[in-house]
Amino acid sequence: MRYEAPKSIKEAAGLLAKAKGSAFVLAGGTDLLVRMKAGMIEPDLLVDVKRIASMQSVTKTATGFRIGAAVPSAALGENAALRKAWPGVVEGANLIGSDQIQGRCTIVGNLCNASPAADSVPAMVAAGAKAVVVGPKKKRTIAVEDVVTGPGRTSLKKGEVIEAITLPKPAPKSGDAYLRFTPRTEMDIAVVSAGVSLTLGAKGVVKKARVVLGAVAPTVVIVSAAAKAIVGTKLDDAALAKLAAACEAACKPIDDKRGTIEFRTEVAGVLARRAALIAYQRAKGE
Ligand SMILES: Cc1cc2nc3c(=O)[nH]c(=O)nc-3n(C[C@H](O)[C@H](O)[C@H](O)COP(=O)(O)OP(=O)(O)OC[C@H]3O[C@@H](n4cnc5c(N)ncnc54)[C@H](O)[C@@H]3O)c2cc1C
Repeated sequence: MRYEAPKSIKEAAGLLAKAKGSAFVLAGGTDLLVRMKAGMIEPDLLVDVKRIASMQSVTKTATGFRIGAAVPSAALGENAALRKAWPGVVEGANLIGSDQIQGRCTIVGNLCNASPAADSVPAMVAAGAKAVVVGPKKKRTIAVEDVVTGPGRTSLKKGEVIEAITLPKPAPKSGDAYLRFTPRTEMDIAVVSAGVSLTLGAKGVVKKARVVLGAVAPTVVIVSAAAKAIVGTKLDDAALAKLAAACEAACKPIDDKRGTIEFRTEVAGVLARRAALIAYQRAKGE
């Protein structure tokens, strides 16, 4: 097995594009090394991206935030401006594993591992986050929801590396939130999760919303009918009941020892409702 730690993204993309056999990007390694140790994969080439300068920082830009793909999740929670603008996105990143895991892991690794239960993804999608993808010849920017195509599968082509995640500047009176259900309080994988982002108009009426569920289908589910149910309302009980019903209808979960289909479906509605209320309070500045 060859290990490379390039200093530039172009070099990383070049190495991956020319690789013969199986090649993987290595970020925090908290998924990849576990899979290697379990004998699930045997890479011929590992391209460590933690030394690439353009991937190492969180920056506030004129249009929002740029989070370098090698930035550990712990650093997101330590960034006051990011926490203030996108508390739900930070919540998702800071629920991954433990402090030790968060000191290494990245939200891009969480996304590209492509688990339906990935904690950072629903809130990123609700926030309208984008992935900056660099290939050996060109750079493209795609919506985060277009990265994962199924469990363990992404739309990235040979040689492509995600350089950064961008988040828009939140509109005034906006808020977001992320919640997950796990049988244990720590170190567990989401049985169901929900991310909600919304913006208020005059008199506390919801003007815009995005409701996203995790762990209830092969990829995250954007529930447009749930968003529609709360737009034009102040999140009264009737609107919340409609939102919950829309979320339940959008679920296509698996049935396993961690949760039955019925349980996951019901909890999806409950979590989306609670996340919407938290996002609403945040949007009002409470
Ligand atoms: C003890 C433990 C607890 C955990 N708890 C949770 C949890 O609560 N919630 C949760 O969601 N996950 C959890 N995980 C899984 C894991 O920690 C996360 O998915 C983490 O975010 C992966 O990030 P990483 O940087 O370590 O990725 P890596 O392991 O380095 O990479 C993961 C995948 O993404 C690809 N990749 C990484 N970076 C890039 C890039 N820039 N461009 C293209 N492809 C890339 C890699 O090639 C690989 O296929 C846990 C893992 C452990 C070991």
